[in-house]
Amino acid sequence: MISTYMNRLIAVSTKEDIFPEYRETPIGFLLEYHNLKRSPDIFKKAQLLIGMCMDNRKRLQIPDNFAYIIRTGGANLRYSEFKISYAIAIGGVKSIALIGHNNCGMENVMSKKEQFIEGLAENAGWERECAEEHFMQLAPMFEIGSEIEFVLSEAQRLRLRYPGIQVAPLHYRVEDNLLYLIKENEKEQ
Ligand SMILES: [Zn+2]
Repeated sequence: MISTYMNRLIAVSTKEDIFPEYRETPIGFLLEYHNLKRSPDIFKKAQLLIGMCMDNRKRLQIPDNFAYIIRTGGANLRYSEFKISYAIAIGGVKSIALIGHNNCGMENVMSKKEQFIEGLAENAGWERECAEEHFMQLAPMFEIGSEIEFVLSEAQRLRLRYPGIQVAPLHYRVEDNLLYLIKENEKEQ
């Protein structure tokens, strides 16, 4: 299952690698700035909204003023709806780049229960019982399952919710710090 999803990643090392529907859009420019070292343009206002993980290993190469960025565990935007709507309604952005990444801590977060309880007890001085209750109550909301699968389904959800907005699911590989496109079902096969 996981390898099937890995096979969907498309490297972007030239402008021609960018899917035609993204070329000359804010999504395409994001890929050019970050992967292709396009020199920064001058922007007076944000061109897109980026949703990405809070993970410390990731940093985007983008010009000043280029993007709003919402960082959450696993690039999960389910609980950021007002901020998304604000970026669209007031900020005027017409594109969303949703960037998942490999080795994400929110993948199979349920498996980290013991470590979570131990850590909160030891580092924050919580009672074990409170830490366990906290985990059991909130972990299901932040579980993303598989990184690539999640970002695809989250992109679909956002497209239905905001039909006028272009939404692109992307993948960040922490080993090379590059962005990858993800092949989607309706475009391939
Ligand atoms: Zn992550």
